[in-house]
Amino acid sequence: MLVSAKEMLNKARDGKYAVGQFNINNLEWTKSVLLTAQELQSPVILGVSEGAGKYMCGYKTVVGMVNGMLEELKITVPVALHLDHGSYEGAMKCIEAGFSSVMFDGSHYPIAENIEKTTELVKICNDKGLSIEAEVGSIGGEEDGVVGMGECADPNECKQIADLGVTMLAAGIGNIHGKYPENWAGLSFDTLAAVKEKVGDMPLVLHGGTGIPEEMIKKAISLGVAKINVNTECQLSFADATRKYIEAGKDLEGKGFDPRKLLAPGAEAIKATVKEKMELFGSVGKA
Ligand SMILES: [Zn+2]
Repeated sequence: MLVSAKEMLNKARDGKYAVGQFNINNLEWTKSVLLTAQELQSPVILGVSEGAGKYMCGYKTVVGMVNGMLEELKITVPVALHLDHGSYEGAMKCIEAGFSSVMFDGSHYPIAENIEKTTELVKICNDKGLSIEAEVGSIGGEEDGVVGMGECADPNECKQIADLGVTMLAAGIGNIHGKYPENWAGLSFDTLAAVKEKVGDMPLVLHGGTGIPEEMIKKAISLGVAKINVNTECQLSFADATRKYIEAGKDLEGKGFDPRKLLAPGAEAIKATVKEKMELFGSVGKA
């Protein structure tokens, strides 16, 4: 059964480790992430962007697929199904469809409007026992089709949003979605510490986990980050393994064209990436 992300994140915060959010795109992705979490006895958050939700034929399809897998694969570790960077309307649809967690990204609204919309959604999520993530300070890279450098959130605005009763808070600390540019300045630990000081116990979320050096990840966790989002890295491993399979001509040998064979190396590559991240984040054995 799907669970809210609240308990797993509070435990992670107290235990000084982070739970990975791995974004899913299809059946292979979902299966790879769930099997790895079960094997490593790690809690896990499945992230679904609005675009990926559309691709997978809508949120109801996603809920049906994930719930089916939890049962058929006998998954016993805590699993949250979470909308990533949701609009207000998207969050409402996911709540209706059976997601156990949503992110409302109101970072592009003026702070007053972000507060108003977040307040409404917090109430709905609290009533239903769902977790909710809010964002302050736009996270750089490609977000909603806009490419920017990583900004740093205003700690006072973070406190305003945290006080609304959200479960976890994503604050921009110089992190970027997608691949990091050569001239990236690194994470701003001063901002992270200032945000933490203001928001107290609130579990913090680090977006754009792909390509942040390991020591920075560890330091961020020590400063209160309890959830780290990984998306691009699984896409790159999947693409790389699939490319190797095709380039080696394996799809032309015997029944190598069978999708179950063709997609297998990519699925295994996702598992390896998820394992590597869970080990780095310290969530192995914490289910
Ligand atoms: Zn993000």
